[in-house]
Amino acid sequence: MNNKIVKSIREGLTADCSKCFGLCCTALNIIASKDFPINKPADTPCTNLQSDYRCQIHSQLREKGFKGCTVFDCLGAGQVVSQVTFNGQSWRNNPETAGKMFQVFPIMGQIHEMISYAAEALTYDIPSALSDELSENLKGLQNLTKLAADELLSLDLMTYRVALNELLTAASDFIRENTIAKLPGAKRLKDFDHARADWMAKKLKDKDLRATNFRGAYLIAADMRNTDLRAVNLIGADLRDTDFSGTDLSTSMFLTQMQINSAKGDVKTVLPSHIQRPSHWIN
Ligand code: SF4
Repeated sequence: MNNKIVKSIREGLTADCSKCFGLCCTALNIIASKDFPINKPADTPCTNLQSDYRCQIHSQLREKGFKGCTVFDCLGAGQVVSQVTFNGQSWRNNPETAGKMFQVFPIMGQIHEMISYAAEALTYDIPSALSDELSENLKGLQNLTKLAADELLSLDLMTYRVALNELLTAASDFIRENTIAKLPGAKRLKDFDHARADWMAKKLKDKDLRATNFRGAYLIAADMRNTDLRAVNLIGADLRDTDFSGTDLSTSMFLTQMQINSAKGDVKTVLPSHIQRPSHWIN
């Protein structure tokens, strides 16, 4: 799969709220917290959602305590469910299919997340056999997005996750091993494994953490200012309020927009090219 195709696949994972029926503001169950000031049951529109599916406080979300809304990213699942799965028929106009639409939304979100990871891994310099397997896996995931609502609801997503996970781990280990080989001193891949580590609020400022495996790690509020995080695996890591000011994340792997939206940073943070600098880092 060539880079142009991969690039266009990744562009398709950008949320286009103008083509969505406010699904994240309706389908999801949200409990009041420091990130969302009100309780909102699942399958119920947020009180701020207007009849045109736009948010009436969009430009003041953080000021009004709706920080969580500025973090969430559906990876384009909302517009696909609205326009493809349900053919442009909204839950407001078709209450009989509303429940199904709300159930399909998080499933499509998971499929898009897997597509995003697979497409990212295909941009790495990895062995061609692994690249071919990833391409096949990606095609299968893309086909899932075209399924009818009932077919989507009956999917066993875990099977897809397990198969993809093996390939992503192989790609990430290959990149990390190559990086480690260039570091001074003899080091082994396992010395860099901090998967699922509890490093909450840990002081890591100015550290060289290149090639570390942070899969599923708890890095909440960790001080990672000015750290070198090139070639790290951040898949599933909890980065809420992690401070990346001045940090080099340029070649970090499997970093998502949602993870970075939940973290702290500044104009000196170096991000991978597919990740946008959050506006709240600058303003
Ligand atoms: S506050 Fe706005 S963005 Fe957040 S859930 Fe409500 S309508 Fe959606």
